[in-house]
Amino acid sequence: MNKEIRIFSPGTVANVSCGFDVLGFCLDTVGDEMVVRISSEKGIRITKIEGFDLPFETHKNVAGVSAQALIADLKPDCGFEIEIYKFIKPGSGIGSSAASAAGSVFAINELMGKPYTKTELTRFAMKGEALASQSEHADNLAPALFGGFTLVKSLCPLEILKLPIPDELYATIIHPQIEIKTAEARAILPKSVPLHDAITQWSNLGSLVHALHNGDYELLQRSLHDSIVEPYRSKLIPHFEDIKLATLASGALGIGISGSGPSIFALSKGEKTAKEVEDAMRKVYTKTAIQFETYVSKINSKGIKIIEA
Ligand code: ADP
Repeated sequence: MNKEIRIFSPGTVANVSCGFDVLGFCLDTVGDEMVVRISSEKGIRITKIEGFDLPFETHKNVAGVSAQALIADLKPDCGFEIEIYKFIKPGSGIGSSAASAAGSVFAINELMGKPYTKTELTRFAMKGEALASQSEHADNLAPALFGGFTLVKSLCPLEILKLPIPDELYATIIHPQIEIKTAEARAILPKSVPLHDAITQWSNLGSLVHALHNGDYELLQRSLHDSIVEPYRSKLIPHFEDIKLATLASGALGIGISGSGPSIFALSKGEKTAKEVEDAMRKVYTKTAIQFETYVSKINSKGIKIIEA
């Protein structure tokens, strides 16, 4: 049995325009690293955190909470030490908390000889996510654990569908360094939606799923619209409309808010276009006083990866 494992735990984009609260995809070039090792002392201990200032207390760190949920079920005859090397800024909207919550349970499962399925791991990780966002949700966790595009068909019972990824699909992300509180991004949403908007949304979601299955980039382009959430949340992100115009003009298939923001994602066919889209995003934000980061990533079909075991 391995005593220690080092993993890459990727960033993820939740919502994906018309897939609010159900759709997500996994990134390849943005993510944290974690080391998890078996210890003779029972329980979970977070022994190292680098990159960002996050709590070491097990019950205050999402990695600790999800790991605790797993060992409460498994009751192993050992404990685990967790080291977190954070590269995804907490609160960025690209699944910082999900990377930690999913990473710890994935690593423990590997060390213990894989007693759990990915769906079961998602359920444990949801306990960790609930700490960060006050509600149990899986739209970032599912792509981190399953890879590719995922659809959370239902939370109770938990049912996750893995969708195919067209070969040449790339994501470009811009992360403006501003803070949007998830609670504020939730509160701004309407409690009910007009039937007309709902019909538009589910027709777009259905055609987006169809486009992923058929590698139909043109249909993907016509489906990446959000008629319900984006009109409200985009107001919280400075220059959202300028980014939208600039990225679409440089060939992106579509754009949307990543998670509850402030990050914005674009999807493109091919790396060359994705990089041109990155340049266009940078040009818009360079003119402002707001600090920002950008990333270009192929869609990660595997999810969390083992670096060393
Ligand atoms: P993101 O939108 O990037 O996923 P979230 O808003 O979901 O970020 O989560 C960030 C919140 O979770 C912060 O309040 C942070 O302090 C808390 N948190 C607790 N543990 C972790 C962790 N291991 N990694 C990231 N955030 C964590």
